[in-house]
Amino acid sequence: MAERKPIESWLTDMDGVLIHEGIPIKGADAFLSRLRESGKPFLVLTNNSMQTPRDLHARLARMGLDVPVDNIWTSALATAQFLDDQRPGGTAYVIGEAGLTTAMHDIGYVLTDAQPDYVVLGETRTYSFEALTRAIRLINNGSRFIATNPDETGPSAEGPLPATGSVAALITKATGQEPYFVGKPNPLMMRAGLNKIGAHSETSAMIGDRMDTDMLAGLEAGMETFLVLTGISSPAEVDRHPFRPSTVVDSIADLVERV
Ligand SMILES: [Mg+2]
Repeated sequence: MAERKPIESWLTDMDGVLIHEGIPIKGADAFLSRLRESGKPFLVLTNNSMQTPRDLHARLARMGLDVPVDNIWTSALATAQFLDDQRPGGTAYVIGEAGLTTAMHDIGYVLTDAQPDYVVLGETRTYSFEALTRAIRLINNGSRFIATNPDETGPSAEGPLPATGSVAALITKATGQEPYFVGKPNPLMMRAGLNKIGAHSETSAMIGDRMDTDMLAGLEAGMETFLVLTGISSPAEVDRHPFRPSTVVDSIADLVERV
């Protein structure tokens, strides 16, 4: 087996790795401190497109975790960057919240429902029948269908919530059009993140709690992968997959010394 090069930059998932149901996971603070002190490039990733990096920074700070705004990479930012590369200065009809609409404004997109280039679907807690109807009609009329992430459900204290992937499925059913999903497990989100911090995949690591998104995306982007067992995936589940992470550890606390 070819030996990997030393790790010079780190990407880590947020939910299930650093925090769980609003509470920091033991070792997350020490890991982040060590990263900041090391001067190594790093990013904290989330597939959730609802919040802006500033919102997420504040949310993490309230839990005692210090992640600078520039070190946060969301599926909303990745989607906006993808569209900026594909069709700069375009137009879009957006279903989503501030995390997505701010990212779209920041790349100079005009948000409109008048024959937009794209319909862009993100996470929201207030899906309206009217907005979905408009999105469906625009896609039928030729707008291209993009979704920030394929997650079918999201976590909440009361139980799972329907998420972007489920709403995308509704629109697909009504239009016959599949969206292009930008977030994990699309390795595009990892590659764009690596570019943002000037990192190379062969000297970068991805930490996550899900085999089907974090580990798959890290693997396909050519990164070293670390699975933590503080979130979704269990050791039994790891073995069922046709691919495996480079290393399985109990939690982020086991990776502090690796930075
Ligand atoms: Mg996670």
